[in-house]
Amino acid sequence: MKKLNKTRRLFFKLFGITIFSYLLLPYKFLYSASKKIINKNLTEEQKIILFNEGTERPFTSFLLNEKREGYYHCANCNAKLFSSESKFDSGTGWPSFTEGLPGAFKTKIDYSFGMKRIEYHCSNCGAHHGHVFEDGPSETGKRFCNNGLCLIFKPSD
Ligand SMILES: [Zn+2]
Repeated sequence: MKKLNKTRRLFFKLFGITIFSYLLLPYKFLYSASKKIINKNLTEEQKIILFNEGTERPFTSFLLNEKREGYYHCANCNAKLFSSESKFDSGTGWPSFTEGLPGAFKTKIDYSFGMKRIEYHCSNCGAHHGHVFEDGPSETGKRFCNNGLCLIFKPSD
């Protein structure tokens, strides 16, 4: 009798775990779906940066010399991320900004390459854009170091 109870308990325990993971399945799916390719015309290089946390070579972005007024959008989902007003020349070789538009990004701590850096993602599509540092020139103190390939500039007029 005792042995039977034990088997029963084990059965319910396993059954419970299975049910639980089934219940979580849609959420797992949602999470992975939140980071997906929306722009079907992305190049391989853009995909590596946006979805595999890659980094473009410094001084290669044509956005470095972009000085017109306008907005910088996410190359994947087109969300508005930065205003030209926050852009500055950091000398690092990557387009740099003192702040993102409100709610544009979500951040995460990145420990790769033996460094602790704050990585940021487009809050709309989840794609990786760059890292944010605490040595910016304005009162925000922030320096958003963005891969130029992840941005699309749209001049305003
Ligand atoms: Zn996006």
